[in-house]
Amino acid sequence: MIAADHLTRTFGSRTAVDDVSIEVGRGEIVALLGPNGAGKTTTMRMLAGLILPTSGRVAIDRTPIDRANAGAARGQIGILTEAPGLWERLSVRMNLLTHARLQGVADAAARVDGVLVRLGLSERAHEAAGTLSKGIKQRVAVARALLHEPRVLLLDEPTSGLDPASARHMRDLIAELRTDGRAVLVSTHNLAEAELLADRIAILKTRLLACDTPSALRASAGPSTVTIEFADSVAAESFPIHTDHEIPAIVSRLVSEGRRIVRVTPARRSLEDTYLDLVGDTP
Ligand code: ATP
Repeated sequence: MIAADHLTRTFGSRTAVDDVSIEVGRGEIVALLGPNGAGKTTTMRMLAGLILPTSGRVAIDRTPIDRANAGAARGQIGILTEAPGLWERLSVRMNLLTHARLQGVADAAARVDGVLVRLGLSERAHEAAGTLSKGIKQRVAVARALLHEPRVLLLDEPTSGLDPASARHMRDLIAELRTDGRAVLVSTHNLAEAELLADRIAILKTRLLACDTPSALRASAGPSTVTIEFADSVAAESFPIHTDHEIPAIVSRLVSEGRRIVRVTPARRSLEDTYLDLVGDTP
């Protein structure tokens, strides 16, 4: 639905994003994962049309966004930026209503009420935004991004700084947004979160290093191992395996050789192994 086509962005002599092509389909969640300064925010901002790429293009439904259709394209995109940026003295409802009116949303009051219900915020509608917890503020910011019913959602670190319960609530909400057929791109530093939430994970470090399903990324890290401990030896032995189905054959062979096995422990390669192989483990 939304595609980045060979996007590059430089700031002075620094290349923030280098030749990144990535597509998010209808009903799909793609996580953008990368270390600090990897270019996640810059990529999101280019996709949202907030900054222009130095080269490359963004397309929605295969139509490249250009000057002529940029306004219409922006209407199809909702973005959650790193800081919620709410008007602190206004109530939740007034924040949303003001924003909806500024954006020219038709039937703004009804739309705001609908979004408040949808995000479980109706009971907080009259509280001043400045008095809300970070988790609730973040939910209001998502509500704001949804006011014009965008088909594409770009969420920049939506769970950053949230406690575990609020983060889970936010993840559930994001998963639900996909069911409406939206395309969702979500940036995160959290590997477990990317794995829980995303259909595909794009690993970015200025360049796009990988983009695949979590299981394919794990598998690409190479073989796992199974560690076997024996009654007659203090030293455990490790055997490489590609799937758990290979374990019975290894165990049978060892038993037929007269070895007495006391414990079999598979050690799976994690997504973290793949990630660190790709981006390196130095900060
Ligand atoms: P983080 O995880 O820390 O939020 P990020 O992956 O979102 O990082 P970006 O914020 O996109 O990374 O930054 C990528 C690089 O581009 C960084 O080196 C940053 O300093 C640089 N950069 C981003 N915006 C600007 C700007 N407006 N002017 C100059 N340099 C910038």
